[in-house]
Amino acid sequence: MVSVEVAHEKCTGCTHCRDVCPVTVFEMQPRENWPNVVDDPNVAAKFQFRAEKSAVIHGPDCIMCEACLFECEGECITIVDDEGTVHKSTYK
Ligand code: SF4
Ligand code: SF4
Repeated sequence: MVSVEVAHEKCTGCTHCRDVCPVTVFEMQPRENWPNVVDDPNVAAKFQFRAEKSAVIHGPDCIMCEACLFECEGECITIVDDEGTVHKSTYK
């Protein structure tokens, strides 16, 4: 089963993952949902105005199209495929 994770401390709240995913793996949720997350300093300095972060709501539905990996502004998405290979986001 494919697993999808977002490193919330680095998520800028850009919504790109939610917007590009063809199978609705991601949903934007209020920052308050992660009270113990301490933002990466770069995110804290630039993106506090964004009120939401991305939550993985249907990770097993991922079809490995890789769109989110290319579009993740915070480079904070990690996907592990069926064979255990780890795929990390790299923003263009
Ligand atoms: S790789 Fe494609 S299907 Fe999987 S979470 Fe990212 S955008 Fe969605
Ligand atoms: S694309 Fe990356 S930085 Fe942007 S909301 Fe999704 S997980 Fe966060």
